[in-house]
Amino acid sequence: MTPFKCPHCGTTSYEAIAKPGSSRKVFACCGCTAVFLDPERFTLKGQTQVPARPPGWIQPPS
Ligand SMILES: [Zn+2]
Repeated sequence: MTPFKCPHCGTTSYEAIAKPGSSRKVFACCGCTAVFLDPERFTLKGQTQVPARPPGWIQPPS
């Protein structure tokens, strides 16, 4: 698997977040507001499915 690296800010860490009340998980870069569904694809293509981290979204309980 390709190690994660944000093509926008170069940060190598990300976290899972979810809309409150929803079980659908997305991932957010720890260094900028990029939100994506697939970390590997995002690393390779810089593809964001959600343009910015939606306000109020939180880290889901793990
Ligand atoms: Zn970033």
